[in-house]
Amino acid sequence: MTHAVCPGSFDPPTLGHLDIIERVAGLFDQVTVAVLVNPDKTGLFAIDERLDLLRAITGQWPNVTVDSFSGLLVEYCTRNNIAAIVKGLRAVSDFDYELQMAQMNSGLAKVDTLFMPTNPEYSFLSSSLVKQVATYGGDVSRLLPPVVQQALAAKLAAS
Ligand code: ADP
Repeated sequence: MTHAVCPGSFDPPTLGHLDIIERVAGLFDQVTVAVLVNPDKTGLFAIDERLDLLRAITGQWPNVTVDSFSGLLVEYCTRNNIAAIVKGLRAVSDFDYELQMAQMNSGLAKVDTLFMPTNPEYSFLSSSLVKQVATYGGDVSRLLPPVVQQALAAKLAAS
């Protein structure tokens, strides 16, 4: 069985993330979307909220599961028998860092990284940019699944 992981912060998940997850789900038997728990960085959404949002937006694909991890991604992969890490690439600016990470990870464990180019529609899209635009009242409805859009509006209204 082929099993891949799509790791990230997903704070919050966007249509760019979802596009990558859907395409990976079409290529692998099993896909785990793994939210990185970074103790040094509190995001806008709590880890449990991100997991709930990811479950809500990936529920239509039976081979996609959602989980969180802390520590080294390659250790998570080894523990869960995951052979491939899939990263979305938006622009060449992503590539430098991602290549470095991929080479480090394949040196640490037998885990390969595959890069998937973004859908051009989402090449400018990042969670941080969405949060910034939404904070100042900009329209982010084309960039987020509706359930995420509602959660973001509620979060910003409460802050
Ligand atoms: P962000 O950079 O938006 O905070 P994450 O850390 O959550 O993103 O990213 C998780 C993964 O999703 C990474 O592989 C990242 O390159 C990819 N990704 C993020 N946004 C997009 C997008 N708009 N199109 C394709 N891939 C993306």
